Amino acid sequence: MKLVVMKFGGTSVGDLDKIANVANIINHEVKKNKLIVVLSAMAGETNKLQNYLDIIKSDNQIENDLVLTSGENVTIGLLSILLKKKRIKSIPLLGWQIPIITDNSHQKAKILNIDTNRIKKYLRKYDVLVIAGFQGISTKGNITSLGRGGSDTSAVALASALNAKRCDIYTDVDGVFTTDPNIEPRAKKINKLTFEEMLEMSSTGAKVLHTRSVELAMKNSLVIQVLSSLKNKKGTLIVDEKKLIEKEIVSGVSYSINESKVTISGIPDKPGISAKIFGLLAEKNINVDMIVQNISQDGISANITFTVPNSEVDKAQIVLKNNEKKIKFKSLNTDENVSKISVIGMGMMSQSGVAQKMFKTLADNSINILAISTSEIKISVLINKKFTNIAVKSLHKAYNLNSKKR
Ligand code: ADP
Ligand code: ASP
Ligand code: MG
Repeated sequence: MKLVVMKFGGTSVGDLDKIANVANIINHEVKKNKLIVVLSAMAGETNKLQNYLDIIKSDNQIENDLVLTSGENVTIGLLSILLKKKRIKSIPLLGWQIPIITDNSHQKAKILNIDTNRIKKYLRKYDVLVIAGFQGISTKGNITSLGRGGSDTSAVALASALNAKRCDIYTDVDGVFTTDPNIEPRAKKINKLTFEEMLEMSSTGAKVLHTRSVELAMKNSLVIQVLSSLKNKKGTLIVDEKKLIEKEIVSGVSYSINESKVTISGIPDKPGISAKIFGLLAEKNINVDMIVQNISQDGISANITFTVPNSEVDKAQIVLKNNEKKIKFKSLNTDENVSKISVIGMGMMSQSGVAQKMFKTLADNSINILAISTSEIKISVLINKKFTNIAVKSLHKAYNLNSKKR
C-alpha cells in the first residue's frame, strides 16, 4: 500500500461535526492507502492561546510554545477517538513522540530531522497515524512551534521524508485562487500553479499555504494539492514549472497587512551604514523585506525605509535605539498602518509593462506607493492600509483575473 499525507486546517476541524467529517474522509481514503493525517488546532484556538500570552506579556519562549502548541493536542485526540469508533487502526502522535526534531528558535522553529524509521514502524502496525501539526521538539528537548500556519509545513515535511504518493492540504476554500476569495468574490480557482508562483503568493501574504511548506515541497519536488474538506472536488495542484504549458503573465494578486514600515532618517550617507543597520537586525533574527534608501533634503545624509513583520517591529525599534550612537541617525519612526500588495506570475519574465500597469492602476485610484520591491516573477508595493481592498480588487480586474480560467 502507498502512503498519502492529508492535512486538515483549523476550520476543517473547527468543531465536533467538522472532525466527524474528517473521520469520514479518512474512512474513505484508508481503503486505498496508508495515511498520515496532520491536524491544526480548532479555528481560532491558537489565536486565543496567543491572546493569553499577550495579556500576561510573556516573553518566556519555552512556556509560550507549550501553550501555543496545545490546541493541536486536542484535535488529534478527538479525531483518534472518532476513528477508533469506526474501527480504523489508528494512533495519535505528538511532535515529540515521533520525534520531529527542530532547532531552538521558538515560535519559528525549523525542522531539522524526522525519525522515519519510527514512523515506518508505526505504519506497519497502524493504518492511520494522526499527527499534531505545528509542533516539534528542539535539540534541547523543549516543545517548539513552527510559526503561525505551520502545520502545512509539518505535513509537507512528513510527506517529503517518507516519499509519500500525495500530500493533500484540506482547507476552507476550494483551492488557491487568483486572490483571497474572501476579499474578492470574483476570484477564480487556479487549477495548476508552479512552486515558484505559489512561493511568491505565500510569502507575500496568501496564507492558504505556509511559505516554508512551499519551499520544502519545491526542494523535494513534492506535488501538493490544496482542496476543500467540505466539497468532494479537485483543488489546486502546485507543481514543477516544467509541467505548466501555458504561463500566465499575472496569475494572482496577494496582500499582507502583517508588516510595518520603519524609517530611519538622517543617517550618514557613506559606505557601510546599511551593512551596520541590517547586520544588527539580522543578529536579532528580524526578517527585513522591502528596502528603500534615499538622500535626504540636505544632500548630505540619507534616509532608509524598510519593512519588518508587525510581530518584530518592537524588537527592531529596541535594537536600533540601543545602537543610535553607532548608526548616528536623527530620527526613527515606525508605521503599522501599511499593507503590501503584490502581483505574481511566471509570464512576467518575458513580458514588459506589467509593473507599469500596476503603478497606473494604483495611480488611477489615487493610491500612493511608499516602497517597491521586485523579483523575476513578482512586483510588490507598499501602500496605506486603508486602500488594501480597493488595490486588490482593481489590480485583479486590471490583469483580467475576474474573467480568466486557468
Ligand atoms: P487552514 O486553517 O485550513 O490552514 P488558512 O486560514 O490558513 O486555512 O488558509 C485559508 C485562507 O487563506 C482562506 O480562507 C482565504 O481567506 C485565505 N487566502 C488568502 N489568499 C488566498 C488565495 N490566493 N487563495 C485561496 N485562499 C486564500
Ligand atoms: N494552529 C496553528 C496556527 O493557527 C498552526 C496552523 O493552523 O497551521 O497558526
Ligand atoms: Mg493555514
